[in-house]
Amino acid sequence: MSESFEIGVPVPLEEHHTVIGSKGDQYDVVNPNQPNMEWTCTCPHYFHRKTECKHIREVKTKLGIK
Ligand SMILES: [Zn+2]
Repeated sequence: MSESFEIGVPVPLEEHHTVIGSKGDQYDVVNPNQPNMEWTCTCPHYFHRKTECKHIREVKTKLGIK
């Protein structure tokens, strides 16, 4: 067995937030919980532009994150 999984080391877990879009679509906003990683969203805006969309901002605002 070459793979080893350390037990007891806290692994930062990504955090999923479901956001309902203006058309009733449901998007999955993911907070990676890691400083060097971007938040992501499953909406077309994020998919095409890879920039923070209103859903990501909405979740950040809700959580009090700037
Ligand atoms: Zn989005």
